[in-house]
Amino acid sequence: MIIAIDGPAGSGKSTIAQAVGERLGLTYVDTGAMYRAVTLLALEQGISLEDDDALGSLALELELEFSESAQGAPRVQVGGRDVTNALREPLVSQKVSYVAAHRKVREALKLRQRAMAEMGDVVLEGRDIGTVVCPRADLKVFLTASVGVRAIRRKRQLEEQGIVVSAKTLEREILLRDSHDSTRSIAPLKKPRDAVEIDTTDLSIEEVVERIEAEAAAVGSDRGGSC
Ligand code: C5P
Repeated sequence: MIIAIDGPAGSGKSTIAQAVGERLGLTYVDTGAMYRAVTLLALEQGISLEDDDALGSLALELELEFSESAQGAPRVQVGGRDVTNALREPLVSQKVSYVAAHRKVREALKLRQRAMAEMGDVVLEGRDIGTVVCPRADLKVFLTASVGVRAIRRKRQLEEQGIVVSAKTLEREILLRDSHDSTRSIAPLKKPRDAVEIDTTDLSIEEVVERIEAEAAAVGSDRGGSC
């Protein structure tokens, strides 16, 4: 089964997708981490965030691995280095949507994401999974939430890493990122026509997961595991 979960920043995609993965025995793929990894490397290597060719090469050559900590938390390695926390640094969050707008970056990462999806039994989360990466996914979910709630969720996530940013600053950053992501010309963030939309503002994680589980049980998996 392939489940595609899309939605704006802070709508709960990562938490929900991980929980759905655990519950249904699906591999969790965080596609935002891939765009963040390219951004981190570009910043570290002083590559211009306007250089489509150089950023595309970084994405093509990206040695990225998803793994789990001993406690079962998702970890991301690039070239053998654990970059899980570095990917959430404020500078990466501010710049990632510029990098994600580049055609060569998107092409390279889309091919990898499809290959991972077509290994089967996956839940992928991102911005264009149901529209571009896996338009034939068995189930497509589009998560939303009020911007105030999204900023507070991000604030808590960052605090767990020891990073303190005000909710107002995060609200501005989220709105700016959403605006870049939904107005770019290639693979913009938008709700797939056939997606189940869930507003998570007033729902618990458990409630959202149960709703997705019920939707997954209703559709079953009959599309041959291709994207
Ligand atoms: O999900 P996350 O907030 O980590 O995503 C970071 C950024 O990566 C998004 O704001 C967006 O610019 C980009 N992204 C994307 N397409 C995806 C996943 C993420 O453009 N499928």
